Amino acid sequence: MMVLRAVRADITTLDVDVIVNAANSSLLGGGGVDGAIHRAAGPDLVHACRLLGGCKTGDAKMTAGFRLKAQYIIHTVGPVWRGGTHGERELLESCYVRSIELAQDIGARSLAFPAISTGIYGFPIRDAAMIAVTTVRKLAKRSTIGEVIFCCFSEPDLRVYETALSDEEIN
Ligand code: ADP
Repeated sequence: MMVLRAVRADITTLDVDVIVNAANSSLLGGGGVDGAIHRAAGPDLVHACRLLGGCKTGDAKMTAGFRLKAQYIIHTVGPVWRGGTHGERELLESCYVRSIELAQDIGARSLAFPAISTGIYGFPIRDAAMIAVTTVRKLAKRSTIGEVIFCCFSEPDLRVYETALSDEEIN
């Protein structure tokens, strides 16, 4: 049984087995949540990331969590929003699928996602939240992960996720 919930928090502070990073394809650090995760995890993270040889959009790779409470970090690369006609929705869905698969492989019980692609990459938050919730819920049935947290950085984003979570229950 997987529980899905939304919280407002700095993802680097969460006490979960795995946090997901909205990285860029170099995996060498950037702004937004990526920068916050690298600062909190410490300099060993960038060394570990260098060995991964980058990551394609829609894919995910894993490292240790280093100084974080989380044991592991899954780095996924969301699509840059280019109007919605360049496969952005499918690529974002793939980020959630690949991240859940990797978390499952290491037997994670709890996992937290940021709102992938909705910052610098410009993906509309309502669309992104609905994709996040529906994709994770679809995978929930055959998953051993007990808890998935959608970690929102702002109060308005949290409200969007709460709406997506409640709409999805009806659908
Ligand atoms: P992207 O390039 O994928 O758009 P960003 O980091 O710019 O990634 O934004 C993704 C989301 O992460 C945004 O909603 C942003 O507000 C949020 N964010 C930024 N810092 C943090 C943090 N420390 N914890 C959780 N979410 C964060």
